[in-house]
Amino acid sequence: MTLQLDERQRAMLSEMGVRVFDALPSAVPAAPVPAPAPVAVQPAPQAQPVAAPVTRTPTGDRPSGIDGMDWEELEAAVAGCQACGLCERRRNTVFGVGDTQADWMIVGEAPGEQEDLQGEPFVGAAGKLLDNMLRALGLDRHSKVYIANVLKCRPPGNRNPEPAEVAQCEPFLRRQVALIQPRIILAMGRFAVQSLLGTTEPIGKLRGRVYDYQGVPVVVTYHPAYLLRNLPDKAKAWADLCLAMNTLDS
Ligand code: URA
Repeated sequence: MTLQLDERQRAMLSEMGVRVFDALPSAVPAAPVPAPAPVAVQPAPQAQPVAAPVTRTPTGDRPSGIDGMDWEELEAAVAGCQACGLCERRRNTVFGVGDTQADWMIVGEAPGEQEDLQGEPFVGAAGKLLDNMLRALGLDRHSKVYIANVLKCRPPGNRNPEPAEVAQCEPFLRRQVALIQPRIILAMGRFAVQSLLGTTEPIGKLRGRVYDYQGVPVVVTYHPAYLLRNLPDKAKAWADLCLAMNTLDS
């Protein structure tokens, strides 16, 4: 059986990371394998002195006056935050990336290892998928979109955020939304949904409707890391993106 796809469907599937094969490739004679080049033996690198880790002790106190902060003050408050235990092991806070005047705001869960190292959200494998999803909408992470997480610090070993951590970090995200005033928020994954909408209902039950967060329409969808493990659900995520796009257009 042959699947007939038009140009638009092919482009969309390609942007979503789905490869379409038209036919089996014809047999090609194997190219001769070149002999391996001799490898120069390198001397073992000298051990470098390791910089002493920064020690931070959580105070349990969030910076005050978050609701009145401007963007720079908010960024500085996040960078210095010691309100929960996540401050002890972070290498960087991950405030967010993108256009601070964006129509679209994407909210994810929390930084992972690469995000903690680079100080930017969604730079690992899930981020590549997110970039492809944005591209399918004609967007990219540096224009018309702002990407932030519920948590600004990495949970050790990428464990799930704890309710107390979400509660401590939530005012930062709330202020980001208030300052950006996006026209649509895409809540990706259950922790984004829990934080923005205050519900523990599963994504599958919440999808397909438009919610409200501080007067901004919210569309719920799967987290890109989940989509990498559950490829068939990419089509549902595409439907969610279309809902978000239609909501923004209407
Ligand atoms: N997953 C998230 O939710 N956010 C990131 O920044 C990276 C992975």
